[in-house]
Amino acid sequence: MTRHRAALVVASLLAIPVTAPGAAAAADVSAAPESTTVILLGTGTPYPSAKNQGPATAVVVGRRLFVFDGGPGVMRQMEAAGLPVRGGPVTALFLTHLHSDHTLGYPDLLFTSWVMGRRAPLRVFGPPGTRRMTEHIVAAWSEDIAVREQGLERESPGGWRADVHETTGGVLYDSAGVRVLAIPVPHGNWKWAFAYRVDAPGKTMVISGDTRPSPALEVAARGVDLLVHEAYPEARLAPEKRPGGEDWPRYMRAFHTSDRELGALAARAHVKRLVLYHIVRMGGADEELLQGVREGGFAGPTVIGRDLDRY
Ligand SMILES: [Zn+2]
Ligand SMILES: [Zn+2]
Repeated sequence: MTRHRAALVVASLLAIPVTAPGAAAAADVSAAPESTTVILLGTGTPYPSAKNQGPATAVVVGRRLFVFDGGPGVMRQMEAAGLPVRGGPVTALFLTHLHSDHTLGYPDLLFTSWVMGRRAPLRVFGPPGTRRMTEHIVAAWSEDIAVREQGLERESPGGWRADVHETTGGVLYDSAGVRVLAIPVPHGNWKWAFAYRVDAPGKTMVISGDTRPSPALEVAARGVDLLVHEAYPEARLAPEKRPGGEDWPRYMRAFHTSDRELGALAARAHVKRLVLYHIVRMGGADEELLQGVREGGFAGPTVIGRDLDRY
């Protein structure tokens, strides 16, 4: 897709009120005026780190809880953030793509929430393949399901279920002041990967997931309050000393976005605040990444996201 065409597609999506298949009414809306809080549940990468759990971002609007990606540790991070973990608190889960670092917490969201009293199916939006992944996860834990349902734990039958909606982009949720748009982005040889734009009371934001610089994301991010975007330090990009390591720079450029590229994109999009997450550091310190963003041309507020940060 050309840059111009991608921009047109996103611009039209941003303007149209859509009822896509799977768009659903809010399950639980409080009467009080709602505000929106973004919580970085996990800012990490595949690299296991106690300080950086797997990628997951919560958008809390009143009593509704939207979760973007299910990286490892996601339910423990919900608890650490003071979010409810009992009774199935997640209004909807949106997967950016099916890379394991973004979905290893998906079984956690399915089964831990069940053990914590969930009865209704978990609403899940994701790319083609999400249904198959869900079926395989359920099959993998079939012994656990049988024991918990039929044994003395007496868990609610079927409380582990997911209501899966596969998508190739567009508006997935539009209800009571919250709108979620999936934007196809280029992530190497993945056929489908999405960034998400969320319009919520008092806040607009784009969450990148994994992507190389994306013109469609840039259009969607125009003037948003918050752009939560992946990054790596361009100055550190070099072949690695391991079998296949010579392809590392080529891989990073095809799959991910450098600090300088991100700075240029954020400047063109005039975002109000930039938050870096899912940082493949390659030894780069915070200051190097911030410097890279500035060199790219973005002079606005920029932060290196930490787990449990709130915006
Ligand atoms: Zn990925
Ligand atoms: Zn990733």
